[in-house]
Amino acid sequence: MNRENKKRKYDKKYFRTHPCMDPFTCKVCGWPVVPAGAGSSHRNHCPNCLYSLHLDREPGDRASDCHGRMEPIGVWVRKNGEWAIIHRCLRCGKIGSNRIAADDNPMKLMALAMRPFGSSAVSREEIRDMTVSMES
Ligand SMILES: [Zn+2]
Ligand SMILES: [Zn+2]
Repeated sequence: MNRENKKRKYDKKYFRTHPCMDPFTCKVCGWPVVPAGAGSSHRNHCPNCLYSLHLDREPGDRASDCHGRMEPIGVWVRKNGEWAIIHRCLRCGKIGSNRIAADDNPMKLMALAMRPFGSSAVSREEIRDMTVSMES
């Protein structure tokens, strides 16, 4: 293992045991974000607009120097039933996912999850047929 990997491993551990508790103002919508409300030590997105910033190379390491805005592009549900938001960096295109937090805007989350159904790319009938075929 080279020195850089070793350092990264240490940093990761550091952020796992020392959650970042600094409040910050969302650069996208101006919402005052208080980490204490998240019910999670790894809040990295705004509970109001769900945007994130590209700060990590690996989750929690704060090693990226991109700092681009990360647009929420989707929602997925992990095997354990936990929801996560998929973010895509507007600057470099990196895609990452982040667990949702307790105080995330539920309407925004639902809007994100339902967005594909509101598009005209796939008709309602097609969606219904697919849902039926997946259930059987
Ligand atoms: Zn925001
Ligand atoms: Zn980026």
